[in-house]
Amino acid sequence: MSLKGKTAIITGSNSGIGLGVAWEIARSGANVVLNSFTDRDEDHALAAEIAKETGVEARYIKADMSKGNECRALIEQAGVCDVLVNNAGIQHVAPIDEFPTDKWDAIIAINMNSAFHTTAAALPMMRKAGWGRVVNIASAHGLTASPFKAAYVAAKHGVVGMTKTVALETAEEPITCNAICPGYVLTPLVEAQIPDTMEKYNMGREEVIKKVMLERQPSREFATVEQLGGTVAFLCSDAAKQITGTTISVDGGWTAL
Ligand code: NAD
Repeated sequence: MSLKGKTAIITGSNSGIGLGVAWEIARSGANVVLNSFTDRDEDHALAAEIAKETGVEARYIKADMSKGNECRALIEQAGVCDVLVNNAGIQHVAPIDEFPTDKWDAIIAINMNSAFHTTAAALPMMRKAGWGRVVNIASAHGLTASPFKAAYVAAKHGVVGMTKTVALETAEEPITCNAICPGYVLTPLVEAQIPDTMEKYNMGREEVIKKVMLERQPSREFATVEQLGGTVAFLCSDAAKQITGTTISVDGGWTAL
């Protein structure tokens, strides 16, 4: 389905999954608004490159997703929001009795609270336009847990819960709200970890990917940012009109275990 004429806002989209989603949505014809907390030339250059390659309008708006007022200001500044992709996220790994409070607060704010603020600001725009899609990038950790990731797992479970509530509140309207739960996705951040992990385990690239990094992912393959973008595009299509309040796992079987 062409998303021509629609505008998608993707939080945390100057790298990784968010950027991949922005490209796929732009290829589907929607104008895109990129975001992160920095305001560098290269951030704006990403938007310019998407506009040049796909022919849609693309903008970059700086807003810190750890701050509720900036989350709401992002939506207001964009002025229109047909598709909202809540993607911004960070991670910190530590046992719960050693988990730094500032890291806990930041993860809850960026990974969960930001979706509350952006959704609250975007829904009136979607209602006015008579169509809307909210897609929350949660995680396999929105459905299952791992040790040492208490804040991340709590935030992602929270996002899945909020997804269901927003879906019920909009059920009789032409608006849907769903969460995508990726397993391990090959982003530049993950790619950068491969050489160190190879050295640590004294293994080759393929072996370290399959045996160490993707130990919990039965397919033994990373998901890709293009696959995530394609899943967001599917949730924006007419075929997905009755899909709301649910999770779609893109995890190579992780949550089937
Ligand atoms: P990434 O680090 O490449 O991207 C995170 C994005 O969030 C970046 O654009 C970053 O600039 C932005 N961001 C961070 N703090 C921000 C803030 N305060 N305000 C605005 N933007 C901020 O990582 P990624 O892997 O692409 O992760 C994207 C999302 O996907 C996250 O929510 C993450 O939890 C989720 N996820 C990732 C994986 C994976 O394997 N990569 C798996 C499951 C879920």
